[in-house]
Amino acid sequence: MLFGLCADGLLWEVEDEVTGLLRDLICFDTTNPPGNETAAAEFLADVLGKDGFECEVLESAPSRGNVVTRLGGCGEGPSLLLLSHLDVVAADVREWSVPPFGGVVRDGFVWGRGALDMKSLTAVEVMVLKLLKRRGVRLRGDVVLAATADEEKGGGAGAEWLANRFPEKVLADYVVNEFGGPALPVGGKNVFAVQTAEKGILWLKVRARGSPGHGSKPGCADNAILRMNRVVERLGNYRGEDVLVPTVRQYLEVLAHEDRRLRPLLLRLLREPACADAVLEKLAGVDRFLAEDVGAMLRVTVAPTMVRGGVKENVIPSECEAVFDCRFLPGQSSGDVLRLIKGLLRDVGLDRLEFEVVHAAEASESAVDTPLFRRIVEVLGGFDVGCSVAPFLLTGSTDSRFFRARGSVCYGFQPFLADAGYAEMWRMVHGVDERVSVRNLVFATSVLYNVVLRFLG
Ligand SMILES: [Zn+2]
Repeated sequence: MLFGLCADGLLWEVEDEVTGLLRDLICFDTTNPPGNETAAAEFLADVLGKDGFECEVLESAPSRGNVVTRLGGCGEGPSLLLLSHLDVVAADVREWSVPPFGGVVRDGFVWGRGALDMKSLTAVEVMVLKLLKRRGVRLRGDVVLAATADEEKGGGAGAEWLANRFPEKVLADYVVNEFGGPALPVGGKNVFAVQTAEKGILWLKVRARGSPGHGSKPGCADNAILRMNRVVERLGNYRGEDVLVPTVRQYLEVLAHEDRRLRPLLLRLLREPACADAVLEKLAGVDRFLAEDVGAMLRVTVAPTMVRGGVKENVIPSECEAVFDCRFLPGQSSGDVLRLIKGLLRDVGLDRLEFEVVHAAEASESAVDTPLFRRIVEVLGGFDVGCSVAPFLLTGSTDSRFFRARGSVCYGFQPFLADAGYAEMWRMVHGVDERVSVRNLVFATSVLYNVVLRFLG
């Protein structure tokens, strides 16, 4: 049997349990910094223990807990890691209509920080593991679960630490993680966008040097702020060359196939990526969100995010620094981007500029032609007849990169229907009034359970 017994195929029997799990997880304030994930990790160990799972809570530092457990298979098939993170970003209670750590369930939704990013997937993955065990499913390969600390601050105390310190406990052939899977309504149908690639990150601090002087005689000094002004203008206005990486090409092909309205524009973009500006301008007239999203998938972007300079009103400063958030495509490296930036600034005076890499993470991309991706397509097609599945490139980044770098095939797959509107859903992530519908929790559990069953059962 593929699906549950209900008419819509959803496993409604888990409704209360998975809703309660998410509600309880939201009540642990795991705002990072500082994180304090251990209490939530121990809670999950306890919850899983009730079904006979042996869990380990591994702390990278005091109160930075990660929980790991495993449901053993017979070793004939690949292993699968169900990955999630327990920490969340801050929430300002004054902006919210409910207490962000109150675990409020209202109007068919679970409200609170982490409802989407990403305690909902944690709850779903735990639920899937419990179901597999309760139903006595014989698995061909191991299913591992890891709910980690510190994703929102780079994963150094969470997934990266686990992958380095305990590879034998967490590394797997395949990984299911966050940031992909929500249904994008296109041309009257749903396109489920599964995240198969992520852009790389280079956070670069540039320090401009000058020589100080009195504010009343600007000509006698070399003002570092003016030099930085040129740097900011040059990099802030940089328009990268448009490149269609395989994931983005496939994503646009699916959208073009499904949406007759967008088809001519998207086909032109596929044919002539060099004309992206004209195409994206027209696309914005139809769907601004999509146009912005696609634009960022095509090229290196550089955004100035911090500037600091000067110490006193009447002192011309000899130093000014700025931070740039650069994002680049799979196939490029952070070193390539640093070279590109230095090239752009050659005539600003490289001898008076210093560069410091604050943080770098390489881009990553997983193959689409895999058994797991095919099972995802089959199962989604069973629940939502006529839907399409497309790979997509995340312009941000997740813990998946640590596992892709170690050879795992990773997919961002949080299968949700767009119950609050697709764009609205993305706005709630790190925004206010974050919430997920109970129906989506049941839907995601049902889909993921069946994917695992088909993949390893
Ligand atoms: Zn997240």
